[in-house]
Amino acid sequence: MTNWDIANILLQTKLLLLLRGEKELAAKYENAAYTIGILDYPANDKGIAFLPEIIQSDIQEILNTGNCEAKETLEKEIPKSLRGIANLPGMRAENAIKLYEKLQIDSINDLKRAVSSGEIKEKKEFGTRFEEQLRRSLIEYERDFKELTLFEGYTYAKSIMMFLNKDFTIKLAGSVRRGKELVNNIDFVVAGDKEKFKKTLNELISIRKTGKENQNFVSIKDKYNIILNFYFVPHEYFYSALIYFTGSKIYSKMLNEIGKVKGFNISKEGYLLIEGQDEKQIFEKLGMQYTPPEIREGEEEIDLALSNSLPELIDEKDIKGDLHIHSNFSDGTNSIREIKNEASFKNYTFIAITDHSQSLKIARGVSKEKLLKEFEIIDKINMDGDEPVLLKGIEAEINMDGTLDVEMDLEKKFDIIIGALHAFSQTNYENTERVKKAIESGLINVIAHPTGRIIHVREAMPLNFDEISKAASKNRVTLEINLFPNRIDLSSGLVKEARRNGLKYFSIGTDAHNTGHLNFMEYGIKILRRSWVKREELINTFELKELREFLWNRKH
Ligand SMILES: [Zn+2]
Ligand SMILES: [Zn+2]
Repeated sequence: MTNWDIANILLQTKLLLLLRGEKELAAKYENAAYTIGILDYPANDKGIAFLPEIIQSDIQEILNTGNCEAKETLEKEIPKSLRGIANLPGMRAENAIKLYEKLQIDSINDLKRAVSSGEIKEKKEFGTRFEEQLRRSLIEYERDFKELTLFEGYTYAKSIMMFLNKDFTIKLAGSVRRGKELVNNIDFVVAGDKEKFKKTLNELISIRKTGKENQNFVSIKDKYNIILNFYFVPHEYFYSALIYFTGSKIYSKMLNEIGKVKGFNISKEGYLLIEGQDEKQIFEKLGMQYTPPEIREGEEEIDLALSNSLPELIDEKDIKGDLHIHSNFSDGTNSIREIKNEASFKNYTFIAITDHSQSLKIARGVSKEKLLKEFEIIDKINMDGDEPVLLKGIEAEINMDGTLDVEMDLEKKFDIIIGALHAFSQTNYENTERVKKAIESGLINVIAHPTGRIIHVREAMPLNFDEISKAASKNRVTLEINLFPNRIDLSSGLVKEARRNGLKYFSIGTDAHNTGHLNFMEYGIKILRRSWVKREELINTFELKELREFLWNRKH
């Protein structure tokens, strides 16, 4: 039983609780799932003492029996057809309930029929956009393998390796290691006895289907429909093979060419037969600088590595704080005190509390009175005098006319103002003008989740990204790299485009809605590195004083 399996059962329980309307308890389960999922060691009774007692006992039960009573009881209570609909990719529990109760949709087939007959879009409470989302969900549902967000791929891989690396040399490779935002499979390179490995794997993972297999390769599809590939290689060539199976196709081909010129042979699987203790030694033997896995794409990094001029990319230890966090003042579930306590384990200097502004009713946007109360609490906690220092922030709605939902008489009290668009306009022009107007207002520091894409739910809004990034650059507004796993909408391609348009500063935030979500920063480093983000480009690496000066640059 991997941590991933445990996290999945907890997330299932969360969903069932939401279907029963128990939001608060559901949030506790979600919080625990994201905490367990990212642990560096296998969950056991000693390792989970920090979780609420009720969830500790569930996990104990899961470890002993593979399931927990809390989940089984809920499954008996909630109709199977409703559960089926709620489990569709990208589906929100409240929408599943609406479909089930208001339209009496009783099965996936029913739902398909309702979508294709136009019944969904005709209903006022659903509309065309929701119909489009359902179409996307259904396509995703019918795919014969599960497409994963980077967060899922990364955490699952991690939870598998922590069990297998006791008996085998195993490392993550492929697109997950390179930090691609969406991945179709998880690749591993393994040194060790293949048959013994298969046996161990079988004990750890529920295998649904065995795919291609040959002497040095095994592919399986697990019970979640996730494809896992294992490449078996001899110990002496492990790191050379790891480089080969990590790089994009073009990258590995180009590296092989360099190797051939240097006189190295190539195995029948394709990797260079170069011995080495780690990847760095292999690169040295090729006359190259060590290249971080996230940028091994076959672009300019090969030439730069050959001339020893790769820039130094950002590292986890460079991050001094998280700049997008929600508390229970809006739609988050933890108190500001709880957030501070959790963040203090992360060696942060600062964190920003950025609850939704008043007009976003669906996310319990905070009123002026509540904001004042929030400031009071932040001031009080900051009196402790320890780190991380809490910054007073807000995620302000960009209204339809491009104005901002910010109480102007409180404006000076904010350390950071994030502008965000949650309800899109139909046209490219309107969205672009709205965002541009917000940027040019001089009132905001950051544009949150700039394209609005949500994986498996909706595409990016129509938007002229060129104009947005140019405006941001002119007004010293950062574009946010949002780490919520199904957002990561500022892809490496867009970061590079923004940089070409002169944008010098970016920011990063987990968009945490509970303390478990604060853990998203760990995999987020991959996204930053993949976008070639350097320390000086990311305001989260600034010292607090420097950050305050940068943020205070707003017009007052
Ligand atoms: Zn938002
Ligand atoms: Zn947010």
